[in-house]
Amino acid sequence: MKVILVNPPIYDFSAYDVWIKPLGLLYLSNILKTHNIEVVFLDCLDRSYFETLVVKPDGTGKLPSTIVDKPNILKDIPLKYKRYGINKEIIKNFFLENNDADYLIISCSMTYWYLGIREILDIAKETLKQTKILLGGIYPTLVPKHAYLTFTNKVDYIFVSSNFSELFAYIGLDAKNLNFTNFPAPDYSHYKNLYYIVTRFSYGCHYNCSYCACRKIFPKYTAKTVEQFVNEVYTLYNQTKCKNFVFYDDELLNFTTTKQLFYEFLKLNLPIKFFTPNGLNPRFINKEIAKLMYELNFTDPRLSLEFTSDFTHDITDKKITFKEFEIAVENLINAGYKPHQISVYLLAGLPYETLNDVFHSLELLSKYYVRIRLCELSPVPKTQLYYQLGLDDTVDPLLHNNSIFIFNGVPGKVKPWCSYEELQLLKKFVKDYNESLKQKTIHSYAHY
Ligand code: SF4
Repeated sequence: MKVILVNPPIYDFSAYDVWIKPLGLLYLSNILKTHNIEVVFLDCLDRSYFETLVVKPDGTGKLPSTIVDKPNILKDIPLKYKRYGINKEIIKNFFLENNDADYLIISCSMTYWYLGIREILDIAKETLKQTKILLGGIYPTLVPKHAYLTFTNKVDYIFVSSNFSELFAYIGLDAKNLNFTNFPAPDYSHYKNLYYIVTRFSYGCHYNCSYCACRKIFPKYTAKTVEQFVNEVYTLYNQTKCKNFVFYDDELLNFTTTKQLFYEFLKLNLPIKFFTPNGLNPRFINKEIAKLMYELNFTDPRLSLEFTSDFTHDITDKKITFKEFEIAVENLINAGYKPHQISVYLLAGLPYETLNDVFHSLELLSKYYVRIRLCELSPVPKTQLYYQLGLDDTVDPLLHNNSIFIFNGVPGKVKPWCSYEELQLLKKFVKDYNESLKQKTIHSYAHY
């Protein structure tokens, strides 16, 4: 059997390679190989195809893009719409070279990126006459009805769960022992140049924040054993010599096993850096964890604070208090981090907060001299918040896009949270503040 795995291009107002790898497909690649299946892999966001693009020391960098026409539903958005990824000719040639494949499996991680799937399916229709096409990933898991209505006539099967058992059943493989705890390492052999490695110690999370779909995508928390995961990182480093390791875990710190894991990493003494783009819950950064993180080269640790108001936490996530955040920052600083080396995620656009509340949070955080990373709310289907907002499965997923939701809303259902101009002010505040960390001249939000 031969299988083509595809990570499609992105259609969006902005996109950047901040450690975006199709981790599910990379696991699947090695799982299929252990069943003696031939696997070919096309990551349309692979920057190795563009050797002139600048690679930052942490492995991130720009994605090549071209401006494209906006879909009708986005025509009034005052931003350019772009296609990010390798050009269509490369995709076409790749499919022609592999037109003997039995299956093409395509996955899509954001609900509002489904236009990338459409492009791949159009190219596949011309080039892969005998290949069965299967669609999976977070997009059909969160918006199955939209996926069925949009793609039923273009694909042979849509699988709508985050595990691979449905897929295995379809292609006739035994899924009895298929469980994250015995997944092999992700397969990075397909990349010509590897700027970073993404992996996971665990899937899932014990919290159930009203704005997050983690529990819907991974209903049960599952982790590998410490020994298994340490071996995985050791082997991946030795195979690739890549020094940037990125955790995709949703809840990395909440366990005694995490501490054991970190002590085992220390023993390995590898020259690697760790990154945590999904954020760390500050509640669990005690003195010992902070010290371990510093010694292990956790770089730019990102703290998932989201809001400074305990009241907002109380009604949305109950995962942290501001006091616990302050203690975490103190522990990290005592461990050796400079304040500007610590990042804090702040979420704008919740219906319980106003623009002024977010400015107040920014001003409060600026007293800690930590770097602020502003996140704009995306209404994620199947979350409590999605239903509280009055949204349902008739909404076009293109409107879930975090680049536009807070100033565009969902016409006829959700009013904009702020205007486009107000959002620009908010972003400017954050940009100027982060710049000023270098000079230590913090502006007051009153200027804005
Ligand atoms: S936002 Fe974070 S803590 Fe909350 S449910 Fe999602 S992953 Fe868990």
